[in-house]
Amino acid sequence: MRILIVEDDRPLGEGIQMGLRQAGWQAEWVADGETARDALASEPFGALVLDLGLPRISGLDVLRELRARGETLPVLILTARDTPEDVVAGLDAGADDYMVKPFNLSELAARLRALLRRSGGRAAPEIAYGRLRLDPAARRVTLAGDPVELSAREFDLLHELLGQAGRVLTKAQIEERLYAWGSELESNAIEVHIHHLRRKLWPELIRTVRGVGYLIPEAPSGAPR
Ligand code: CA
Repeated sequence: MRILIVEDDRPLGEGIQMGLRQAGWQAEWVADGETARDALASEPFGALVLDLGLPRISGLDVLRELRARGETLPVLILTARDTPEDVVAGLDAGADDYMVKPFNLSELAARLRALLRRSGGRAAPEIAYGRLRLDPAARRVTLAGDPVELSAREFDLLHELLGQAGRVLTKAQIEERLYAWGSELESNAIEVHIHHLRRKLWPELIRTVRGVGYLIPEAPSGAPR
């Protein structure tokens, strides 16, 4: 398992690298945001330990770019910034854990083990829509905390529509996805899946745009309380 450490303080970066190597990982260390971005784009890493205050590109920007590309590797922010606002910004940008300096190396290693255990190598952020939650990694949907049983197709369709809430998806675009899922498509398959999703979740969740396609409005309405 390769772990990338991004830390602009040289002794600290080298210390973390040594510590994580002793914990059994193949740890690489880079000292600025731009080098981190290049490394992440060109080589596979299993996890990222990310400082926030970095030369060239900030840690938050590195993280946002990573998530915008759909990269799901676990990210642990390791920073001196300790206000609740900093922690919220880091987690909302897609971090999986947040540690404040000064820190303990064995705690860092334990947190990384926990992240890797939980993610199983994947850690896409959960999508929240009102009281509806969709967890792409676990392929799990809950409504007001209660699990909702969806077929694989229903899940994928909901994921697609929720991921682009506020935008109309044409039937052609949805069909492309259905074909990409790799099976025969009945002529009314999409209508059937939409019908099931409305029944299992709530009717106003998915709007039909006549002659065009389907849409999940940007803000939830008609959802059960
Ligand atoms: Ca720094």
